[in-house]
Amino acid sequence: MRCMNESCRDHPGGSRLMACLVLAAILCAIVIVLPGSAGAACEELLYAAACIRVGIPCGSEVRLGSASEGTDLRVGDGLELNYVLFRPEEDGSITCIGPDGACVKLENPVAVSLDEGANDAADSKPQLIWIDNEKAVYQGRFELSVNSNGCLLLVNVLDLEDYVAGVVPYEIGAASPFEALRAQAVVARTTALSSLGRHEEHGYDLCATTHCQVYRGAGAELAQPAVREAVDSTAGEVLFYEGIAARGANYHACCGGLTESAGDLWGTDVPYMHTVRCSRTLDSRGDGFEISHEDEVRGWIQTPDPDDYCYGSNGYRWRVEYSQETLAGILEPVIGPDASVESLEVVARTSRGAAVRLVVHASSGDYEVSGEYAIRAALGGTQVIKSGVFVVSSDGNPPTKFEFEGAGYGHGVGMCQYGARAMALEGHDYISILEKYYPGATVGSLKP
Ligand SMILES: [Zn+2]
Ligand SMILES: [Zn+2]
Repeated sequence: MRCMNESCRDHPGGSRLMACLVLAAILCAIVIVLPGSAGAACEELLYAAACIRVGIPCGSEVRLGSASEGTDLRVGDGLELNYVLFRPEEDGSITCIGPDGACVKLENPVAVSLDEGANDAADSKPQLIWIDNEKAVYQGRFELSVNSNGCLLLVNVLDLEDYVAGVVPYEIGAASPFEALRAQAVVARTTALSSLGRHEEHGYDLCATTHCQVYRGAGAELAQPAVREAVDSTAGEVLFYEGIAARGANYHACCGGLTESAGDLWGTDVPYMHTVRCSRTLDSRGDGFEISHEDEVRGWIQTPDPDDYCYGSNGYRWRVEYSQETLAGILEPVIGPDASVESLEVVARTSRGAAVRLVVHASSGDYEVSGEYAIRAALGGTQVIKSGVFVVSSDGNPPTKFEFEGAGYGHGVGMCQYGARAMALEGHDYISILEKYYPGATVGSLKP
């Protein structure tokens, strides 16, 4: 049975995960005094206890229904209904409106699950609940509450493996080659376990967007059975570094031929997330690689290499052109209204060439933007300025247009997803893929 492991189930209320973690922490404290790989043993306990609480965006009302034939929803302590519309009330309670229009007011928070009797009987079939649309189906159960703004907060509580199956198709694409799906499953699991409690102040562990990992329930895994096979065949597996489960594993769409160093980009060194070449022929390690000067970055961007695994993929190389008017409009929050842009100067880059400090010279003054993500956001958004590895050419004085040329899509740290797909197509298994993009890390199992 999924996401109903006893230690989670036996603690009613909104703090089931905390109960699991407290239990695991107590057991870890006991384990840690024993000789041997206490760290790994501790992670095993966390894995065994892990239910993931995912915050699902919802509007001012939400409809939940049973997607499992012959099984009703169990709402609150005893209501059994096929589907229910939930609305927040000003007094903080939640109104539930059933299929026949009957209204019931319930105390905040409201638990919603499938009827347990039917759940036991149909153990082998996924038990699904839909949100707003019968195709948007989710595993596990839900907790609905009213937040401080009077809006509904919907939290999906589910087994870690079911969560991973709801992430993989949206992060790398359900149609990706099987070994790339398996690599993504290991990375998504590593990320989830190391991010438990990231949104604790919001009442859940992880959000369902790119901020944590994109999670959209079970629809895609049901349509593409290879997703569940990839998750099941790697169940419990995460990245390890020096004998303990890795504290995070970043990934991105396309590195452009060279991955980024986490320490260089974000200031905290992670030994298995240093620069590597995403290449069939060049030495895998990029340590000591240095292209932080403008000319070197331009040279790298302008010499695409067909031997790169991600060569030719979306964002491998990209180009954006802005007129003076457009760029001044985009940068208005930085340079103010009615100012023109005189030049853009990258004053600090990582050794892979990603801009981390940018000075905007404008008619209204000079302004600095710091951080790769903030720079991309300020210059038109992270989907337009696809990576921090870019150079700018301008034309005229003051310039009438600005041309950006760049390499890569995303922050560049960790696994390059297009590279992983190409490696899988060429016969590499998921372990080789992961060992390439996380140098020094290994794949290990937390399954007790
Ligand atoms: Zn998040
Ligand atoms: Zn790549």
